[in-house]
Amino acid sequence: MRRAATTQVIAALLACALLGACSSSSHRAAVAPSSTSTTHVTDTPSTVAPTTTAKIVTTTKSVPARILSGRTIALDPGHNGGPVPPGTVYIGNGIRHPCDSTGTANRGGLTESALVLDVALRVRARLEALGANVLMTRTNDTGSGPCIDQRVEMANRAHVDVGLSIHADGTEGPRNAGGFHIAVPVLIPGQTQAVVDSSRRFALAMRAAYAAATGLPVSNYLGVDGILPRTDLANTNLPNHPRVLLELGVLNNASGGHDDMAVLGSDAGRVAMSRGIVDGIVRFLTSS
Ligand SMILES: [Zn+2]
Repeated sequence: MRRAATTQVIAALLACALLGACSSSSHRAAVAPSSTSTTHVTDTPSTVAPTTTAKIVTTTKSVPARILSGRTIALDPGHNGGPVPPGTVYIGNGIRHPCDSTGTANRGGLTESALVLDVALRVRARLEALGANVLMTRTNDTGSGPCIDQRVEMANRAHVDVGLSIHADGTEGPRNAGGFHIAVPVLIPGQTQAVVDSSRRFALAMRAAYAAATGLPVSNYLGVDGILPRTDLANTNLPNHPRVLLELGVLNNASGGHDDMAVLGSDAGRVAMSRGIVDGIVRFLTSS
């Protein structure tokens, strides 16, 4: 069961303090007040009809205009709406993996691929309003691919400042499985050493910002305090830039009923998720 948002934020901060894992910058205000112009970020219309109504209070936030000017950010809405492409691809660490998949779906018919695309498009609009260049791996939910290795390679070739893959989880684990988590690289000599530390800093900034914006708890079934090291993902094994994979929350679990959908399935929730993701990116890029 999800705890109250305030309790979660306090718990997250306490956990960070106890672990000594969070940099001081991860808890300060995302951006300093501007003495000049500001940008009022508004949300783009949803391409996927939200299914529930969340009681999330959202406000229009003023941030310095063009604070991300000159920055390039890779956004990967995970999966695709089309059929699974054939074959396997190499994703590092000696592992071959199917090219891609269609992801999970909940019992109401909401697919992961559609949900994460909607959130990613909202994030893109906010980032571009702040002056960033945004590299998307896909902008519709109708085709197949690119394969998971190519999604990372696109960002590698563009020498992006940071990369984020957006997913929503489905699990046959605990019936009350819920909450968000962030997959991060593990040190693999000759492969990931250049991005392990920076990716972890990005994950910590994202965790703080996303929890604050959405009120969602960290995962109660995977990872430690919402951070999950992975050695079996293209997203964690192949990048040449700071990169993490964010599981927005649980879209489907063994019971079919959980309260992450109040956020994942509502327009207000998607505004909050996109706002939190952008805040996490801004926190990271302006502190490193
Ligand atoms: Zn996924």
